[in-house]
Parts: sequence; structure tokens; C-alpha cells
Amino acid sequence: MQIQLLGTAAYERVPALFCNCPACKAAAAAGGKNVRTQTQALIDGRLLIDFGADNYPHFLRSGADFSAVRTLLLTHSHSDHLNADDFTMRRVPYAHALTFSPLQVFGNAECGRKLAGCTAQDGIEYTELRAYGTAGCDGYTFTALPANHPTENPYTYILSDGHSTLYYSLDTGLPAKEVYDFIAEKKFRFDAVICDCTACLQPLRDAGGHMSLLGNLAHREALQKAGAADTGTKWVVTHFSHNGLVKDGRGILHTELEELCRRCDMTVSYDGFTLEI
Ligand SMILES: [Zn+2]
Ligand SMILES: [Zn+2]
Ligand SMILES: [Zn+2]
Repeated sequence: MQIQLLGTAAYERVPALFCNCPACKAAAAAGGKNVRTQTQALIDGRLLIDFGADNYPHFLRSGADFSAVRTLLLTHSHSDHLNADDFTMRRVPYAHALTFSPLQVFGNAECGRKLAGCTAQDGIEYTELRAYGTAGCDGYTFTALPANHPTENPYTYILSDGHSTLYYSLDTGLPAKEVYDFIAEKKFRFDAVICDCTACLQPLRDAGGHMSLLGNLAHREALQKAGAADTGTKWVVTHFSHNGLVKDGRGILHTELEELCRRCDMTVSYDGFTLEI
């Protein structure tokens, strides 16, 4: 399974549109991997996770054929994860000769409501998933787990292609005990975890429906106890907010964060980051 992170920031991106905080100023001055757009993942060039407001820059930068995507998993309905207006772009005359249609979209009831305005012309089919429900599409199986995030029934996903298993763990704070119990009971074993690190350096584990690095450590420990993670599990942090990238009044750059995370055996993602599992 090839996992490509097309964007690695929270809603406000880094640097944020109207912000002059130390993290945003440092990121803007340094550029490169410090500049982050909204979170989105592309799996094997044919399965997308989330569909926020940065679809277009992600399409441009990656060179991917977005019309070849067959499956779209939606974590929740926040605007950095679902921008329903972009589905109109699939219609003639805004698009011609789509590589694949209809796109199979999966998510919760709230995402379904946001897609109510879509029509057959958009070439999408929507399937509502229940919490702890499993579905399949195009050779993948995925299980929706309840996230700890302030919106209606948000999900994280366990995604498998039959060979490798990914736990896409955002947007979420530390999940409820029942989630870890479910993972243990079903005997999942993760080759990689892509995890919410919105509050990165903040001295909190669980930060309002998101995690810090401390939260990531606690999450990993709980998954290890559940038997789903071990030393062979690759741990990648993402969904960064500028608010988590300030330390002692100074903006922390990607290279410094990499050094810090290396000591915890975690990988810091950046826009365009690719992982093979
Ligand atoms: Zn988000
Ligand atoms: Zn800022
Ligand atoms: Zn969110």
C-alpha cells in the first residue's frame, strides 16, 4: 500500500491566512516542508481520504489523476475534510472523460446531508457507514471507528488491502476505551498509524478533540496494549496547527520537530510525504 499525504495541516493551514504568530512567521520565512495545506491522503492513486478545501492545490502538486479515484472515505463533515462544492467539478462541462465514475463515497450521516445537493451528474454514489461498521470497495476493506472530535459521529478508519493495514487516526483526541477494546477484540495489527498531532508541542494529551505529541505517545501505548501496534508499526504524525508549533515563544520548524520525533520513533509528515507499507 502506498500512502501519499497530499496535505498535513489542520483547518487553518501553516502559515494561517490572517496570522502573525511566531510559528506562522517562521514557516512563511523558511518555506519548503514548513508550509502545509489541509490534511488529505491518497492511497495507491485510487483511494482518497477526505476531500477538503485544498483539493485543487493537491491535484496540481501531486500530478495525480483525481478522476481515477474510485473510493473516497470521509472522516467527518468539517470544511477541511469535506468541501461538497468540489463534486460539481465532475460534471460536464466542468470535466470530460473521467477515468472512473461513479466515485464511491463513504462517511457518516452528517457527510451524507452535506452531499444532499449532489446529483447523478456529479458521478458519485454515497454509502453511509455506521460506527464500528466495515465495508469494502475496489479490493479494500475499511472499518469506521468513533473519533473523539467535536462534531456529529466523526470516524477514524482502519484500512486494509488484504496485505497491509493502516490506522488513519484523525481528527481525534484520545479515543474512548471501547475503541481500544474493539481493536483488541478484532485482533487488528497495524503496519502504520497516521495520527492527529494538531496540538503537537502543547503540554496536553487530549486537546479538544485533537492530540499533542504526548497524546500520540499515550495513543501508541494503548494500541500496543491492545496488541495492534508493536515495534514494526510505523508511526506518522500529521494534521498540524500553528498553535502546536510554538515553544518558548518561538516558532518550531520541521527539522527541529523531526529531531524531537526521531527520539520517540515517530516520523513527521510534510506535504507530499509518501509511505509504503
Ligand atoms: Zn481537521
Ligand atoms: Zn499562526
Ligand atoms: Zn475536524
